[in-house]
Amino acid sequence: AIVDKYRRQPTYLVQVLREVQDALDHIPPAAMAYVASALGVPIGQVEAVTAFYAFFHDRPMGRYRVLISDNITDRMLGSMALVEHMLNRLKLKLGEVSADGVVSVGLTSCTGMCDQGPAMLVNNRTITRLTPRRIDEICELIRAQVPLDDWPSFYFKVDDNIRRADMLLAAQWSPGEALRAATSLGPQGMIHELRLSNLRGRGGAGFTTAVKWEAARNAPGHGPNATRYVVCNADEGEPGTFKDRVLLQSYAGHVFEGMTIAGYAIGASRGFLYLRGEYTYLLQALEKHLADLRKMNLLGRSVCGVEGFDFDIEIHVGAGAYVCGEETALIESLEGKPGRPRIRPPFPVTHGYLGQPTVVNNVETLCKVLEIATHGGARYAGLGTKQSTGTKILSVSGDVDRPGLYEYPFGVRIAQVLEDCGARHPQAVQVSGAAGMCLSEREFGRRIAFEDVPTAGSFMVFGAQRDLFEVARNFTHFFAHESCGFCTPCRVGTTLVSNLMDKIAAGHGTQYEMNELNRLAGVIKGSAHCGLGTASCNAIVDTVQKFRPAYEKRLKAVDFEPAFDLDAALAKAREVTGRDDADAHLAQGMEQH
Ligand code: SF4
Repeated sequence: AIVDKYRRQPTYLVQVLREVQDALDHIPPAAMAYVASALGVPIGQVEAVTAFYAFFHDRPMGRYRVLISDNITDRMLGSMALVEHMLNRLKLKLGEVSADGVVSVGLTSCTGMCDQGPAMLVNNRTITRLTPRRIDEICELIRAQVPLDDWPSFYFKVDDNIRRADMLLAAQWSPGEALRAATSLGPQGMIHELRLSNLRGRGGAGFTTAVKWEAARNAPGHGPNATRYVVCNADEGEPGTFKDRVLLQSYAGHVFEGMTIAGYAIGASRGFLYLRGEYTYLLQALEKHLADLRKMNLLGRSVCGVEGFDFDIEIHVGAGAYVCGEETALIESLEGKPGRPRIRPPFPVTHGYLGQPTVVNNVETLCKVLEIATHGGARYAGLGTKQSTGTKILSVSGDVDRPGLYEYPFGVRIAQVLEDCGARHPQAVQVSGAAGMCLSEREFGRRIAFEDVPTAGSFMVFGAQRDLFEVARNFTHFFAHESCGFCTPCRVGTTLVSNLMDKIAAGHGTQYEMNELNRLAGVIKGSAHCGLGTASCNAIVDTVQKFRPAYEKRLKAVDFEPAFDLDAALAKAREVTGRDDADAHLAQGMEQH
């Protein structure tokens, strides 16, 4: 039934495996073989996809699969003590499945609930605001094997926490209003307004949206079935970011209408919303929203009554791979493959989904399109700064009194945001997630804008009591975990870096490790294949430069300290051989040195 639901199309492989796992709790070899044959793909591809995505398992996990969010903001809210508490209650070790097969507990990367953490996923359903008491209750429900649908509904409540609304979050739109404005402008007219607006992508890179749309529109397409596609990148995985979650939860109409306008402007008939697996709880409501839009003729054939404009949207759900936020990795995933970034050029605007011209835009970017279609690009460009027009939504979390979403015109100073959110004695702000910039107090006068501090939206505040070394260490673990393994500098380098940070944390760090961190950061940045790798050491470089005492207080005075006890490791060999050369003891050697 699952393969038939997806018309046995190989591009739906990730979706099919997701549903197989939901049905069977894991993806056994027999199911892989069946799916391979039904979709007509090599078994190796099914195995590779199963192995690639963190949420897929080829062996039985617990019937209740608990994954606790392990972002630094969760840790600041006491998540590790809660993990310990839960493991004790369930008499389990981390990553272990209980003997009766009922439950497994593990960690996962940021689940996008930093404003209401600590958070966890249970069978892909999000639970926020964990406390020891709530953990106790959850353990009882699991022990009694109460179905998730019968758990208290308030466990699953996810708040928007909109603290400051501006052009986007405060706007009221009736469905189809902006789309009708766009169709009256015509495709070229819409792109012209977009050019006037100077709208830039809100996913982090800041590429000019009009240039992207125009390039896709002008690209010829390939083969007898030449066509074009629109993709909304809702794989919001950057630690500390959760703005897209709110837009999808409460502004889904904006997102879908922005996609439809993009489809109209570039001449596409099909759009995909790629929803991160951590936001599966939104899927049902989003599907219903799409069905409502079809009933209103805002999707489907002759959309809005425009003859020849056929456009529809479908949702693909990710399966726990941060790298799929990179647009070519996302397209690979949409095609039913492991989400590994492609070699560019060619770019998606000419060779994207199935080799056809494809526009990939961030959720927030597409929402901005409504304002531009309705009121024109010039008005939009009147807000913000010269190179950064309009507004930016920030996801604020950490040591603040009022975590949540803050929408500002571009150009707002860091200090202003800190004041508005009630930051508590801030010593640092990590802007744009683990891959972004760590700003010290001396930089709080800087501005959020592409010409100064660019950001996809994450704004994590660290109070005076926080240890910036531990913040950077958490990020190194994140990157080592999320590296897709395609290229050696990132696959090996991120692990070496996180090992070095662990060694320093364990009290074995010396100047040698500091030099190695610096050297590896340069190697990875200069030779990794995609942005995940090149940005993976940004936090180390920033914190070493700006918060050096946090590292130095952990360093040993010696030039090198092994991470393990060499004498203990050699003791057995010395005993067996009866040889014990006094000069071969490393500690003595170091003292002589
Ligand atoms: Fe994969 Fe890392 Fe290389 Fe990017 S840099 S392709 S994430 S291994």
